[in-house]
Amino acid sequence: MANQIKPQPGIMDIALYVGGASHVDGQTNVLKLSSNENPLGPSSAAKDAVARSVHEMHRYPSTDHTPLRQAIGETWAVDPDRVICGVGSDEIIHFLCQCYAGKGDEVIHTEHGFAMYRISALAAGATPVEVKENDRVTDVDAILAACTDKTKLVFIANPNNPTSTMIGEGEMIRLADGIPPQAILVLDGAYAEFVDGYDGGVSIIEARDNVVMTRTFSKIYGLGGLRVGWGYGPKEIIDVLNRIRGPFNLSSAALAAAEASVRDTDYLQKCRIENAKWRDWLSNALAEIGVPCDTSTANFVLARFGSEAEANACDDHLKSEGILIRRVAGYNLPHCLRITVGDESACRRVVHAIAQFKGAR
Ligand code: PMP
Repeated sequence: MANQIKPQPGIMDIALYVGGASHVDGQTNVLKLSSNENPLGPSSAAKDAVARSVHEMHRYPSTDHTPLRQAIGETWAVDPDRVICGVGSDEIIHFLCQCYAGKGDEVIHTEHGFAMYRISALAAGATPVEVKENDRVTDVDAILAACTDKTKLVFIANPNNPTSTMIGEGEMIRLADGIPPQAILVLDGAYAEFVDGYDGGVSIIEARDNVVMTRTFSKIYGLGGLRVGWGYGPKEIIDVLNRIRGPFNLSSAALAAAEASVRDTDYLQKCRIENAKWRDWLSNALAEIGVPCDTSTANFVLARFGSEAEANACDDHLKSEGILIRRVAGYNLPHCLRITVGDESACRRVVHAIAQFKGAR
């Protein structure tokens, strides 16, 4: 009998997400530079908060996340009533697609944009539309040209992963003001905190009713394992998203850690400075051995090789040395490798291994 159980249209077009591995067969001293994690880890205030939270683990967590939303509001000068918290910013992206895009609707993302935009669009039954970038930089004109009366969501990451580039405020505004009236612009600020003086576009949101920002605790705050993200936008949109949010989507440990982290602004600044220092060192050291990178605004660099074969061979060599970095062929960048900025010893180790590889060719 033919199997009559079938997934919804679009689901089988979703490629399984690859990445996140943290081991290499046969290697003990593994260096993971493949997931843009903070090499300094979380703030000690976050660890203390998690330790305290275990005493209450028999209780359900907060459903409305008030203390965390208030802490976010105070730190980032946003209205806590317009903040929504999710299981990573992945969940906020998912909510946006579930609530605003369905069959026949289009969801725009850029050529080298983050994988979840396409996954969530397809999961919602919508059609993802990929728009070319301009030498690995978001191309506002190309996005505006791709908009139609079916466009419901436009996702850009700023800074963008995996390119590490970003566009300025004027370009973000041009995009917000140029998209069709039925569409929402999503400014994904997963790496916003690495950019000195940048708040992810809060003032753009305040002045409009069609822009939402997403943020995460997985990157600079070093809480990837606890899965916390947040979104900020017009009250009406946040109200819609909250309707499909599971009532206990965030654990008490995750909420406690995120609240303590967002209040520890000294630690945030320390991480930002350390990242900038070793990011510059890493980019320069790679350029010196013949591996150029675009100027990075985030906590990773995109290293360019002569060909896909060379990039893959370099990745194989790094693996044999116990170093995990990210291949980005799936992001239309087959000749590149994405390398997270580690601490000093990590940066020195990866550069040494790439220099070995280049020297041996
Ligand atoms: N947006 C971008 C651009 C990312 O790179 C990532 C993580 N790789 C995310 C969103 C999702 O992060 P999280 O779900 O951990 O918050």
